[in-house]
Formats: sequence, structure tokens, C-alpha cells
Amino acid sequence: MSKVLICGGGVIGLCTATMLGRDGHCVTVLEADPAGQTMAAVDGWNSWERPGVAQFRQPHNLSSRFRMISDQELPGLTDDLLRTGCVWVDYLDSRSLPPAITDRAPRPGDEALRFVTGRRPIVEWAVAAMAQAAPNVTIRRGIRVRELITGASAIPGVPHVTGVRTTSGEEIRADLVIDAMGRRSPACEWIISAGSRSPIEEAEDSNFAYFTRYFSGHQRPRRMGRALTPMGLFSILTLDGDNDTWSITLYTSSKNKAMRALRDTATFHRVVSACPRQAHWLDGEPITPVLLMAGVIDRYRRFVVDGQPVITGFAAVGDAWACTNPSAGRGLSVGLLHAQVLRNVARRHIDDPEAFSREYDAETESQVGPFYRNQIAADRARIAEMNALEEGMPVPAPNPVMAKLLVASSQDADVLRGMIEIAMCVALPQDVIARPRVAAKLAELDGYPLSPDPNIIDRYRMAALLGG
Ligand SMILES: Cc1cc2nc3c(=O)[nH]c(=O)nc-3n(C[C@H](O)[C@H](O)[C@H](O)COP(=O)(O)OP(=O)(O)OC[C@H]3O[C@@H](n4cnc5c(N)ncnc54)[C@H](O)[C@@H]3O)c2cc1C
Repeated sequence: MSKVLICGGGVIGLCTATMLGRDGHCVTVLEADPAGQTMAAVDGWNSWERPGVAQFRQPHNLSSRFRMISDQELPGLTDDLLRTGCVWVDYLDSRSLPPAITDRAPRPGDEALRFVTGRRPIVEWAVAAMAQAAPNVTIRRGIRVRELITGASAIPGVPHVTGVRTTSGEEIRADLVIDAMGRRSPACEWIISAGSRSPIEEAEDSNFAYFTRYFSGHQRPRRMGRALTPMGLFSILTLDGDNDTWSITLYTSSKNKAMRALRDTATFHRVVSACPRQAHWLDGEPITPVLLMAGVIDRYRRFVVDGQPVITGFAAVGDAWACTNPSAGRGLSVGLLHAQVLRNVARRHIDDPEAFSREYDAETESQVGPFYRNQIAADRARIAEMNALEEGMPVPAPNPVMAKLLVASSQDADVLRGMIEIAMCVALPQDVIARPRVAAKLAELDGYPLSPDPNIIDRYRMAALLGG
């Protein structure tokens, strides 16, 4: 079995380590942040400092796909999450279904779309405990990787990674080095410093700003409609949390300076109160101020250029490979899918660096890439819409298929299930619209004007809400 080094002990680094350790590889995780004090999971929210993960206390939702993969590959994790206070969420619960849907009966397969979720520190605490107990896995915290070490090439002229050097000067050797250093991973610079061709890298600011407040209360708010609802100049996201908590997020274009007023709690509450399906989510005790996050980068990297690996002995997983604006709450689910792909390719090719690099690239592109590209397309369309609304310009025409899916999902039980599968990373839009019942429903909407959501707040009302 091989020696594997994982740089970065966030959720995806730890899940990857657990899967590879269970396959018998000798896995070491190097995590830059120091170990937290020993604590109960629920204290992690208050006391676990994670400067290496800027979004640590930002809203996080798991999804059905996360649960499906973890039940298959990391058995016991769902129960561990529940033990730490995470909760079941069922978007098909009959009380949550849109009122216009007449067929409200449960169906075979609905159970698979339920998922367990909680706040990020609590989820990560459960994942860290699982990895700590996994066979063949060693986690070293407080160790920052500084650069890659290379050795004899597996492909002539292409650097081959044989280990890493830490900031303390320690050299650690491995057969495979995995980059799980998240969205700010410096690995591309390290690869170029190792003498490689430049990997493909695309990066741009997603241009969204997030305003989030967490609440606690004895009764979780009843969900009326979707978790994520576009409201014109902003979108509202309501997420269930662990241990009687939940969060409300308003996100908007970061170009819209007037929206910065949402940092003020009174303004935040005024705007949420104007959202009829979400206002009751304010009925709890606030446990944080309004938390702001902006400057979230969309970034994608590829390590095979013109059909040739730029480096071997190296693989990037999770956010270190690609990350997007997180409004759809998919990073952990797509990352876990990517970890599964990595583990599968390692089963076939870990002893053959060239075959490993080529196949990992191909499988990443075909299985994981579509989730990234769909998200980027949706984000660009939404930000263009928000900016046009703010400037009082005509709103760009929405993607007609997605617009019809959105309308039809509030009327039809088949389309609703398809939309949930898309949101939960279980299916891609192209798969859902190809289903005969969905296609027939969408065809019914051909030629009919799609009326906008009557609850949307226009710019004049928004200005009044922001101004008090
Ligand atoms: C505002 C916001 C909200 C989000 N909401 C959701 C959501 O609702 N649902 C969802 O699924 N996803 C969400 N995401 C995305 C999610 O946070 C990421 O997809 C996820 O954290 C990726 O996990 P990771 O393990 O790949 O990287 P990270 O969690 O970023 O972990 C990287 C780790 O690498 C360590 N590290 C960095 N450099 C070094 C080094 N040189 N040496 C050693 N260690 C190093 C860091 O300390 C860190 O622990 C959100 C993201 C943001 C920004």
C-alpha cells in the first residue's frame, strides 16, 4: 500500500484521508491550524478557532448527495452528525410543499432526498473525530506546508512530486501528495516553482456579498417554499442548523453599496420581515450579530494542459481544485464526490503516476466539472440580473429552461422532485429536463408568459427598507 500526504485538514481533506486510510494506504494529514482545545462538539461553535477557513462561521448546508456518498463511503458519519445535534431536513415534507402542488403523497425514492445538516464547526467536528479514529490515518495539526519536493520524473520533462517541506523545514516523503488546502491553496505557485508548466487557472470575484445572522429557539421555523429564494436585488437563504439553531442569509451584488446597510441588525430584520415566506425565521433569539462575507472567489484549476499532465505525484481535491460562490451550498457535497472520484482512481492507478494524473483529470472533468460549470453559469446570470435591477436597466432574459423549471416546480410534483435533485447535487439540470414527465410539464408552459414571483421587492421598496 502507498504513502499518501494530504495537505489541509478541512472537511474534504479529512474525508479523503478516511477513505484512503480504509483502503489500507498510510495517510498523513498536515493541517496548518493548531489543534483546538478538547471540547464537546457543540462548544466548537464558540471556541474552535479556524483562521485557515475564512467561512468557518458562515452558513453551511449539507445535502442529499453528501449523505448518499457518506452513507456509502463513510458509514457511521450520518449517525455521528446526529449525535452532535445535527438535524434531518426533508424538503418533501408535506408541510413544506408549495400549496399549488395537489399530489402531496410520498413516493418511493423520497427518503433518499432527506439529509442531515448542521453548522459548519459542528459538522467539521464530527468529521474530524471520524478521521481521527480511522485506520491508517495520522492527523498532524499546527503543521504548515511550505513547498513541494520533487524527484525522478515519471514522464520525461514533467516534475514528479515526492513529498513536501513544511515551514519548520521538515521534509515528509510520499507516493502521492494531495492538495486539500481549500480555496486559497497556493499549490499552483508551488507547482510552477517546481519547474512545471503553468496549470490552467481561472479565477474571478463572484461579486456576491453575504449577510448572515444565526438564531436559536425551541422550535425550528417551518419551511414555506425553497431554502433559496430570489427576491430581486437580493436572495434569501434559510438554513436549518444543529442544536436548535438556524440561520438567515441575505446575499446581494457586492457592487450595490446601499445594500451594505444590511450589516445593521435593525435593517437586516426590516428586510427579512418584508419576505412573507421567511419573516417567521426571525422568531428566535439572535446568537450572532450580522456576519458579513464578501470577496468570494470563483476559481477552477486543471493540471493536464494540452493533453499532458503538468505534474505527477500530485492531486488537488475539493475547493483546492474548484470553488464557486457558495449560495447553492454545494461545496462540501461536490468536494465529497470529488474525494470519492480520487479514491476510485487511486484504487486503479496509485502505482502508475502518469495513468493516475490522466485518469483523475478525465474523471474530475466528466463527473465533477459539470457541477462547477452549472454553478458559474447560474451565478453570472443572477449577478447580471441583480446589477441590472439596481441600475434600473432591462433585466437580461433568464435561461428559459431554468425559468420554466422554477415555475413548474411550484406546481408539479415531478418537477419539484427534479429541482430538489438539482439543488441537492443528485442530478444535473440536463438530466432532469430530459425526463419525459418533466419535459411534458415544461412544454405546457411554452408560449405562456412566466409571471414573476409577486413577493419580489422592487428597488423603490428596497430603498425605503434600507433607509428605515
Ligand atoms: C460564505 C461561504 C458559505 C458556504 N456555504 C456552504 C454550504 O452551505 N454548503 C457547502 O457544502 N459548502 C459551502 N461552502 C463551501 C465550503 O465551505 C467549501 O466547499 C469547503 O470548506 C471545502 O472544504 P475543503 O476541505 O476543500 O477546504 P477548506 O475547508 O477550505 O479547508 C482547507 C484546509 O487547508 C488548510 N491549509 C491551508 N493552507 C495550508 C498549508 N499551507 N498547510 C497545511 N494546511 C493548510 C486550512 O487551514 C484548512 O483547514 C461555503 C463557502 C463560503 C465561502
